[in-house]
Amino acid sequence: MAEPKTAELMDKIVSLCKRRGFIFQSSEIYGGINGFWDYGPLGVELRKNIRDCWWNDMVRRRDDVVGLESSIIMHPKVWEASGHVGGFTDPMVDCKASKQRFRADQIFFAAVVVEGKTVGYVTVLESERIAEELQEKAETFKRKKAIQGKLEPIKPRDFTEATPEEIPLIPSPATGEPGSLTPPRAFNMMFETHVGALSDESSVAYLRPETAQGMFVDFKAILDTGRVKIPFGIAQIGKSFRNEITPRNFIFRSREFEQMEMEYFISDDDDWAKWHRYWIDWCRDWLVSVGIPVSALSEYNHPKEKLAFYSKGTTDLMFKYPFGVQELWGIAARGDYDLTQHGKASGQPMEYFDDLKKKRYVPHVIEPAVGVDRILLAILCSAYCEDQAPNEKGEMETRVVMKLHPRIAPIKVAVFPLLKNKPDLVKKAQEVRDLLRPYMTVFYDEAGAIGRRYRRQDEAGTPFGLTIDFDTLGEKGPELADTVTLRERDTMKQERVKISDLVSKLIERVR
Ligand code: ATP
Repeated sequence: MAEPKTAELMDKIVSLCKRRGFIFQSSEIYGGINGFWDYGPLGVELRKNIRDCWWNDMVRRRDDVVGLESSIIMHPKVWEASGHVGGFTDPMVDCKASKQRFRADQIFFAAVVVEGKTVGYVTVLESERIAEELQEKAETFKRKKAIQGKLEPIKPRDFTEATPEEIPLIPSPATGEPGSLTPPRAFNMMFETHVGALSDESSVAYLRPETAQGMFVDFKAILDTGRVKIPFGIAQIGKSFRNEITPRNFIFRSREFEQMEMEYFISDDDDWAKWHRYWIDWCRDWLVSVGIPVSALSEYNHPKEKLAFYSKGTTDLMFKYPFGVQELWGIAARGDYDLTQHGKASGQPMEYFDDLKKKRYVPHVIEPAVGVDRILLAILCSAYCEDQAPNEKGEMETRVVMKLHPRIAPIKVAVFPLLKNKPDLVKKAQEVRDLLRPYMTVFYDEAGAIGRRYRRQDEAGTPFGLTIDFDTLGEKGPELADTVTLRERDTMKQERVKISDLVSKLIERVR
């Protein structure tokens, strides 16, 4: 069957997430709150599996990476030293007519030029088709105004590049009319709060906008445990908060999200480009190991002129989301900037004494930083599939199936007694459920026709289904007694398996 169109695909995924209990809008009964999401019964399992896979592969299976869980609210000086208080900003634009706010770098505009003369401006919001949409708008503009002459090809720019003379002439994306957009101004994305009973200047603190600073601030404490030697990494999984101007695209850009970050410290004279490449490859291979097709991934190297002054290089692993190719995982070579900053600001030098090289230095760092929610969305988009399958009457109908990798699927196996009103079947099915439960997540379901129970599990992404029928009870002869039907989600192929072989057979396929 043809793949659903991109916008349509996103709608289908959002609706499946709600219907099956993966993701809900936060505080929905009060109308929702923009940029915040809740994870339902299947969503929490999927998230947990993503985190656990990452933690196992990044920390437990390596000798050179250790874990950390630092607090969400840290000393405010952390964020001064890191540069977040002064510079963690996005350029914000207000539309005075509609009261809507936009990120300036997400508004694209172009001059409408006819026979060398600028006759007006057109605007679109960031999308997959910025140039085409602007071109179409320019043509409509010229036609509506009945302007004669040849329209020149449009040259898209983002709003941060607009000159002061152009700003009043650029139409607002909200109203389509010029004159209401303000010049961009810096908006700090850190959420502020107060610590203690007094709410004044001195009690201001921030919800962390990234987990990374915890690793820098605790660098010395971890060195002092004596467990690590350069090169080594510190990894952390935890919530981060950013007051995004325009949260959008479902869970892609939220105001509360979870990060998995690792700071890999290397010596000051090591080949940083080699380590940078190593971690880009590691991240890509890891994404593939949880079911993201390599064909949906690409690399974007930040141009040298756009890098922060201390950065040696940043590469983003990009994923082809239905709404466009977007950053999934950033891998940055940050030099010794962060440790040096905290060394200076705290008065405690963040140095390492290298026994082999017999010298003291501030280590350099490579940072792979990713959001759990962005991985989860990429996984959902990769897994969504529609095919044809026979219904109860043998007629072909569209089947929605989430082809989640067994490693991260929320439920590994579903157990169904063929009929719920036959106590022997139910008893046997519950025995099978209890046999498997110590090893994997099992879902027991006796409600409704067996075909419909399969469909529900196909939508939940459960890779295996087990049916306990009269053959299991030995009613068709002893050779089938204590065997069950094992159905594989993607191929819908069924095989007969001995109950005593189930654990070993399934464990091998879900790990
Ligand atoms: P973007 O340019 O998309 O805002 P960023 O470059 O600011 O992202 P980083 O500061 O490098 O992002 O954060 C590291 C990772 O954290 C990102 O690659 C992404 O996976 C995740 N992330 C960042 N901001 C958000 C958000 N608002 N919602 C969900 N995940 C996020």
